[in-house]
Amino acid sequence: MESSSQNPKIVDSHVHVFPNLIRPDLIGKLPIAGPLGRLRAKARELWTPLSSSMHYSQTVLRHLPESARQKLDELSGVAPILGLFIESTASDLVQAMDRAGVDSAWVIAHPPLISNEFVMTLCERNPRLHPVVNIPKNTPRPATQLKSFVKHGAKLLKIHPAADGLPPESPFYKKLLKTASDLGIPVIIHTGCIHSHLLYKTPEFACAELFTPWFKEYAQTRFILAHMNFHQPHIAFDLAEEHLNLYMDTSWQPAEVIGESVRRLGAERILFGSDWPFIGGNLDVGLARIRDCVNSGTLNAEQSKLILGENAIKLLTKI
Ligand SMILES: [Zn+2]
Repeated sequence: MESSSQNPKIVDSHVHVFPNLIRPDLIGKLPIAGPLGRLRAKARELWTPLSSSMHYSQTVLRHLPESARQKLDELSGVAPILGLFIESTASDLVQAMDRAGVDSAWVIAHPPLISNEFVMTLCERNPRLHPVVNIPKNTPRPATQLKSFVKHGAKLLKIHPAADGLPPESPFYKKLLKTASDLGIPVIIHTGCIHSHLLYKTPEFACAELFTPWFKEYAQTRFILAHMNFHQPHIAFDLAEEHLNLYMDTSWQPAEVIGESVRRLGAERILFGSDWPFIGGNLDVGLARIRDCVNSGTLNAEQSKLILGENAIKLLTKI
């Protein structure tokens, strides 16, 4: 697996790694052997079928009436927390990647839970992992901070207005966007109004259409709409048809939506993403959806290669 990292073919453009709460000094490594390692492996075995079925049923939620969906969104924000105890560290990720045949992954920070410094150190130690930084909203000099992370190897910027509780027109984001644009790095935006107040301060600030002024003002910047706007992917497709600087990742979307995205936008702006480790096993679930598209004839082999890795590699090498 290590040798293929020179020329990766499958890239997961959306993962998170949690610090090891038991041994923080291990920077995400947990001993695989030993009683604790065996216990976690057993727990994962039991948890995976359950979590995978939750992942599949999640895509049905969007068809429910708004009030029912909002209640289930709150619940689905709680469910993955149990899974994080058994699958969330760097060792777990590398194991999951090896199992699923994923060559490299973009690791996204989520301060204060997953700090930028933790993600930077982790990726520095593992060449298969690429850091994505997320600058906390009260950072005094956000532009300087972002420049420093990029100088030290950060590849992309993530902006998460729903978690920050800041509206897209906030001057804080303007500073970050101008810097990202000057540096030529792509920007991942969390999109999709998911009514989980446990996870997000203001879920409404994730509606993809709110970012339209950004797409126009920073027309040279490549934006990635994470989760294809979740419950309302058609809005993400409308925006991407109009703005050619928009990309999107496949996390949380079923095969038919991935197929529809390619039909409307072509395969060049669609990136495989899993949002690992939320609702564990989703690395395999996410990959299976793209393979389902190939098997059913919705995607051809060339298009699936672009989505599985080539588009992501190109996005990073263009910097
Ligand atoms: Zn995520």
